[in-house]
Amino acid sequence: MSAPLACIAELRRSASTRLAAAGHTSAALEADLLLGAAAGLERTQLIAWPETCVSPAQQQQFEHWIARRLAGEPIAYLLGRREFWSLELRVSPATLIPRPETEILVEQALERLPASAALQIADLGTGSGAIAAALARARPHWTLLGIERDAAALAVAAFNAAELQLDNLKLIRGDWSSTLGAASIDAILSNPPYVRPDDPHLVEGDVRFEPIAALISGDDGLNAIRTIITDASRCLRPGGLLAIEHGWDQGPSLRGLMKTQGFAAIETLHDLAGQERVTCGCDSRT
Ligand code: GLN
Repeated sequence: MSAPLACIAELRRSASTRLAAAGHTSAALEADLLLGAAAGLERTQLIAWPETCVSPAQQQQFEHWIARRLAGEPIAYLLGRREFWSLELRVSPATLIPRPETEILVEQALERLPASAALQIADLGTGSGAIAAALARARPHWTLLGIERDAAALAVAAFNAAELQLDNLKLIRGDWSSTLGAASIDAILSNPPYVRPDDPHLVEGDVRFEPIAALISGDDGLNAIRTIITDASRCLRPGGLLAIEHGWDQGPSLRGLMKTQGFAAIETLHDLAGQERVTCGCDSRT
Protein backbone atom coordinates (compact mmCIF):
# COMPACT_ATOMS: atom_id res chain seq x y z
CA MET A 1 0.00 0.00 0.00
CA SER A 2 1.37 3.42 -0.87
CA ALA A 3 1.64 6.27 1.64
CA PRO A 4 -1.13 8.90 1.69
CA LEU A 5 -0.31 11.87 -0.51
CA ALA A 6 1.53 14.64 1.30
CA CYS A 7 2.19 18.20 0.17
CA ILE A 8 5.70 19.39 -0.70
CA ALA A 9 6.14 21.25 2.60
CA GLU A 10 5.29 18.12 4.59
CA LEU A 11 7.57 15.89 2.53
CA ARG A 12 10.46 18.31 2.95
CA ARG A 13 9.92 18.69 6.67
CA SER A 14 9.49 14.99 7.40
CA ALA A 15 12.51 13.90 5.34
CA SER A 16 14.86 16.57 6.64
CA THR A 17 13.85 15.77 10.24
CA ARG A 18 14.66 12.08 9.70
CA LEU A 19 17.97 12.84 7.97
CA ALA A 20 18.99 15.31 10.69
CA ALA A 21 18.10 12.78 13.40
CA ALA A 22 20.40 10.29 11.63
CA GLY A 23 23.24 12.81 11.87
CA HIS A 24 23.23 14.23 8.33
CA THR A 25 24.60 17.75 8.60
CA SER A 26 23.03 18.98 5.33
CA ALA A 27 19.66 17.32 5.97
CA ALA A 28 17.45 20.06 4.50
CA LEU A 29 19.58 20.38 1.36
CA GLU A 30 19.70 16.61 0.85
CA ALA A 31 15.92 16.32 1.25
CA ASP A 32 15.45 19.07 -1.35
CA LEU A 33 17.92 17.56 -3.82
CA LEU A 34 16.16 14.20 -3.65
CA LEU A 35 12.63 15.65 -3.74
CA GLY A 36 13.59 17.92 -6.63
CA ALA A 37 15.03 14.97 -8.58
CA ALA A 38 12.03 12.73 -7.80
CA ALA A 39 9.49 15.40 -8.78
CA GLY A 40 11.42 17.09 -11.58
CA LEU A 41 11.39 20.43 -9.74
CA GLU A 42 14.00 23.06 -8.93
CA ARG A 43 14.67 23.89 -5.28
CA THR A 44 13.12 27.33 -5.77
CA GLN A 45 9.91 25.63 -6.96
CA LEU A 46 9.85 23.36 -3.88
CA ILE A 47 10.04 26.49 -1.74
CA ALA A 48 7.49 28.42 -3.79
CA TRP A 49 4.81 25.68 -3.86
CA PRO A 50 4.51 24.30 -0.30
CA GLU A 51 0.86 23.23 -0.65
CA THR A 52 1.32 21.35 -3.93
CA CYS A 53 1.24 17.54 -4.01
CA VAL A 54 3.62 15.53 -6.16
CA SER A 55 2.33 12.39 -7.92
CA PRO A 56 2.10 9.11 -5.98
CA ALA A 57 4.93 7.63 -8.07
CA GLN A 58 7.14 10.66 -7.39
CA GLN A 59 6.42 10.51 -3.67
CA GLN A 60 7.23 6.79 -3.64
CA GLN A 61 10.52 7.40 -5.48
CA PHE A 62 11.38 10.14 -2.99
CA GLU A 63 10.65 7.96 0.06
CA HIS A 64 12.66 5.12 -1.50
CA TRP A 65 15.65 7.44 -1.93
CA ILE A 66 15.31 8.83 1.61
CA ALA A 67 15.34 5.26 2.99
CA ARG A 68 18.49 4.47 1.00
CA ARG A 69 20.11 7.74 2.07
CA LEU A 70 19.29 6.89 5.71
CA ALA A 71 21.07 3.57 5.12
CA GLY A 72 24.17 5.57 4.12
CA GLU A 73 24.14 5.51 0.31
CA PRO A 74 25.90 8.58 -1.12
CA ILE A 75 23.62 11.26 -2.48
CA ALA A 76 25.70 11.33 -5.69
CA TYR A 77 24.85 7.67 -6.38
CA LEU A 78 21.15 8.18 -5.66
CA LEU A 79 21.05 11.16 -8.04
CA GLY A 80 23.55 9.57 -10.45
CA ARG A 81 25.19 13.00 -10.67
CA ARG A 82 28.01 15.04 -9.15
CA GLU A 83 29.43 18.40 -10.11
CA PHE A 84 33.15 18.61 -10.84
CA TRP A 85 34.92 21.67 -12.27
CA SER A 86 31.45 23.16 -12.94
CA LEU A 87 30.46 20.16 -15.10
CA GLU A 88 27.44 18.03 -14.20
CA LEU A 89 28.85 14.51 -14.44
CA ARG A 90 27.10 11.14 -14.43
CA VAL A 91 28.49 8.89 -11.69
CA SER A 92 27.61 5.34 -10.64
CA PRO A 93 28.76 2.86 -7.98
CA ALA A 94 31.29 1.69 -10.60
CA THR A 95 33.10 5.04 -10.29
CA LEU A 96 34.52 7.13 -7.47
CA ILE A 97 32.53 10.22 -6.63
CA PRO A 98 34.72 13.11 -7.88
CA ARG A 99 36.11 15.18 -5.02
CA PRO A 100 37.08 18.86 -4.92
CA GLU A 101 40.75 18.07 -4.15
CA THR A 102 41.03 16.25 -7.48
CA GLU A 103 40.47 19.64 -9.15
CA ILE A 104 44.12 20.37 -8.20
CA LEU A 105 45.15 18.01 -11.02
CA VAL A 106 43.02 19.98 -13.47
CA GLU A 107 44.44 23.31 -12.23
CA GLN A 108 48.03 22.10 -12.52
CA ALA A 109 47.56 20.86 -16.09
CA LEU A 110 45.90 24.15 -17.09
CA GLU A 111 48.63 26.22 -15.46
CA ARG A 112 51.63 24.28 -16.69
CA LEU A 113 50.78 23.28 -20.26
CA PRO A 114 50.40 25.50 -23.34
CA ALA A 115 46.71 26.04 -24.14
CA SER A 116 46.98 26.24 -27.89
CA ALA A 117 49.37 23.34 -28.58
CA ALA A 118 47.99 20.02 -29.89
CA LEU A 119 48.97 18.06 -26.78
CA GLN A 120 48.17 14.43 -25.96
CA ILE A 121 47.31 14.03 -22.31
CA ALA A 122 46.51 10.76 -20.54
CA ASP A 123 44.28 10.43 -17.48
CA LEU A 124 45.10 7.03 -15.98
CA GLY A 125 42.18 5.37 -14.17
CA THR A 126 39.74 7.96 -15.48
CA GLY A 127 36.67 6.51 -13.70
CA SER A 128 33.73 8.79 -14.50
CA GLY A 129 36.10 10.73 -16.77
CA ALA A 130 36.06 13.77 -14.47
CA ILE A 131 39.65 15.01 -14.92
CA ALA A 132 39.76 14.27 -18.65
CA ALA A 133 36.34 15.84 -19.27
CA ALA A 134 37.25 19.04 -17.40
CA LEU A 135 40.42 19.43 -19.48
CA ALA A 136 38.79 18.44 -22.76
CA ARG A 137 36.16 21.13 -22.17
CA ALA A 138 38.70 23.80 -21.13
CA ARG A 139 41.27 23.06 -23.87
CA PRO A 140 39.77 22.16 -27.25
CA HIS A 141 43.24 21.86 -28.85
CA TRP A 142 44.32 19.09 -26.49
CA THR A 143 43.46 15.42 -26.98
CA LEU A 144 42.58 13.71 -23.72
CA LEU A 145 43.04 9.95 -23.40
CA GLY A 146 40.88 8.61 -20.59
CA ILE A 147 42.20 5.17 -19.69
CA GLU A 148 40.24 2.82 -17.47
CA ARG A 149 40.41 -0.91 -16.83
CA ASP A 150 36.83 -1.33 -15.55
CA ALA A 151 34.22 -1.66 -18.34
CA ALA A 152 31.35 -0.35 -16.20
CA ALA A 153 33.31 2.77 -15.22
CA LEU A 154 34.37 3.29 -18.84
CA ALA A 155 30.70 3.24 -19.88
CA VAL A 156 30.01 6.06 -17.39
CA ALA A 157 32.93 8.07 -18.82
CA ALA A 158 31.60 7.45 -22.35
CA PHE A 159 28.18 8.73 -21.27
CA ASN A 160 29.80 11.92 -19.92
CA ALA A 161 31.93 12.44 -23.04
CA ALA A 162 28.85 12.08 -25.25
CA GLU A 163 26.59 14.22 -23.09
CA LEU A 164 29.17 17.02 -22.90
CA GLN A 165 29.99 16.60 -26.62
CA LEU A 166 33.69 16.24 -25.97
CA ASP A 167 35.08 15.08 -29.32
CA ASN A 168 38.63 15.52 -28.03
CA LEU A 169 38.16 12.99 -25.22
CA LYS A 170 39.08 9.44 -26.30
CA LEU A 171 38.32 6.57 -23.96
CA ILE A 172 40.50 3.49 -23.94
CA ARG A 173 40.13 0.28 -21.96
CA GLY A 174 43.45 -0.56 -20.34
CA ASP A 175 45.58 -0.96 -17.28
CA TRP A 176 47.32 2.30 -16.27
CA SER A 177 49.75 3.27 -19.06
CA SER A 178 50.08 -0.18 -20.69
CA THR A 179 48.15 0.91 -23.79
CA LEU A 180 50.28 4.03 -24.35
CA GLY A 181 53.10 4.09 -26.89
CA ALA A 182 56.69 5.02 -26.02
CA ALA A 183 57.49 8.73 -25.76
CA SER A 184 54.08 9.66 -27.13
CA ILE A 185 52.40 11.62 -24.33
CA ASP A 186 52.84 15.25 -23.20
CA ALA A 187 51.37 14.79 -19.73
CA ILE A 188 50.20 11.94 -17.52
CA LEU A 189 47.66 12.74 -14.82
CA SER A 190 46.14 10.31 -12.36
CA ASN A 191 43.97 10.02 -9.28
CA PRO A 192 44.77 6.36 -8.63
CA PRO A 193 43.72 4.24 -5.67
CA TYR A 194 46.05 5.15 -2.80
CA VAL A 195 44.31 4.30 0.47
CA ARG A 196 45.74 1.64 2.82
CA PRO A 197 43.37 -1.28 3.54
CA ASP A 198 43.49 -0.55 7.30
CA ASP A 199 42.62 3.17 6.93
CA PRO A 200 39.80 3.84 9.45
CA HIS A 201 38.25 6.36 7.04
CA LEU A 202 37.13 3.43 4.80
CA VAL A 203 34.34 2.51 7.22
CA GLU A 204 32.75 5.98 7.35
CA GLY A 205 30.39 7.89 5.07
CA ASP A 206 30.22 7.77 1.26
CA VAL A 207 33.49 5.89 0.85
CA ARG A 208 31.84 2.63 2.08
CA PHE A 209 29.83 2.53 -1.15
CA GLU A 210 32.64 3.41 -3.56
CA PRO A 211 34.48 0.79 -5.67
CA ILE A 212 37.21 -0.71 -3.54
CA ALA A 213 39.54 -1.09 -6.56
CA ALA A 214 39.44 2.70 -7.00
CA LEU A 215 40.36 3.29 -3.35
CA ILE A 216 42.87 0.70 -2.11
CA SER A 217 46.17 -0.31 -3.67
CA GLY A 218 48.44 -2.69 -1.79
CA ASP A 219 49.26 -2.77 1.92
CA ASP A 220 50.88 0.68 1.85
CA GLY A 221 48.39 2.14 -0.67
CA LEU A 222 51.23 2.80 -3.13
CA ASN A 223 51.09 -0.13 -5.59
CA ALA A 224 49.30 1.74 -8.38
CA ILE A 225 51.42 4.86 -7.80
CA ARG A 226 54.65 2.83 -8.10
CA THR A 227 53.44 1.29 -11.38
CA ILE A 228 52.42 4.67 -12.79
CA ILE A 229 55.68 6.44 -11.86
CA THR A 230 57.87 3.57 -13.04
CA ASP A 231 56.17 3.41 -16.43
CA ALA A 232 55.69 7.16 -16.93
CA SER A 233 59.16 7.92 -18.26
CA ARG A 234 58.62 5.33 -21.04
CA CYS A 235 55.38 7.00 -22.21
CA LEU A 236 56.22 10.69 -21.71
CA ARG A 237 57.85 12.87 -24.28
CA PRO A 238 61.11 14.43 -23.00
CA GLY A 239 60.12 17.20 -20.58
CA GLY A 240 56.59 15.79 -20.17
CA LEU A 241 54.56 16.37 -17.01
CA LEU A 242 53.54 13.73 -14.48
CA ALA A 243 50.97 14.73 -11.82
CA ILE A 244 49.48 12.27 -9.31
CA GLU A 245 46.99 12.65 -6.47
CA HIS A 246 47.90 10.85 -3.23
CA GLY A 247 47.25 10.55 0.48
CA TRP A 248 48.21 13.26 3.01
CA ASP A 249 51.23 11.29 4.28
CA GLN A 250 52.47 9.90 0.94
CA GLY A 251 54.22 13.04 -0.37
CA PRO A 252 57.73 11.90 0.69
CA SER A 253 57.23 8.51 -1.04
CA LEU A 254 56.00 10.16 -4.25
CA ARG A 255 58.91 12.61 -4.33
CA GLY A 256 61.37 9.76 -3.68
CA LEU A 257 59.88 7.54 -6.40
CA MET A 258 59.86 10.38 -8.94
CA LYS A 259 63.46 11.29 -8.11
CA THR A 260 64.58 7.68 -8.52
CA GLN A 261 62.92 7.58 -11.95
CA GLY A 262 64.82 10.71 -13.01
CA PHE A 263 62.03 13.30 -12.73
CA ALA A 264 63.01 16.92 -12.06
CA ALA A 265 61.23 20.04 -10.74
CA ILE A 266 59.32 17.81 -8.30
CA GLU A 267 56.72 19.75 -6.36
CA THR A 268 53.85 18.81 -4.02
CA LEU A 269 50.64 20.86 -3.88
CA HIS A 270 48.37 21.13 -0.85
CA ASP A 271 44.59 20.73 -0.73
CA LEU A 272 42.14 23.13 0.94
CA ALA A 273 42.64 21.30 4.24
CA GLY A 274 46.37 22.17 4.02
CA GLN A 275 47.44 18.55 3.40
CA GLU A 276 49.88 17.37 0.74
CA ARG A 277 47.63 16.01 -2.05
CA VAL A 278 49.18 16.19 -5.55
CA THR A 279 52.82 15.70 -6.57
CA CYS A 280 54.09 16.88 -9.97
CA GLY A 281 57.37 16.22 -11.75
CA CYS A 282 58.84 16.73 -15.20
CA ASP A 283 60.66 14.16 -17.26
CA SER A 284 64.26 15.41 -17.33
CA ARG A 285 65.67 13.73 -20.45
CA THR A 286 67.07 16.20 -22.91
N1 GLN B 1 40.63 10.66 -1.85
C1 GLN B 1 39.86 9.47 -1.63
C2 GLN B 1 39.54 9.30 -0.19
O1 GLN B 1 40.13 9.93 0.63
C3 GLN B 1 40.58 8.27 -2.10
C4 GLN B 1 40.52 8.21 -3.56
C5 GLN B 1 41.68 7.56 -4.13
O2 GLN B 1 42.25 6.62 -3.58
N2 GLN B 1 42.04 8.02 -5.25
O3 GLN B 1 38.65 8.56 0.14
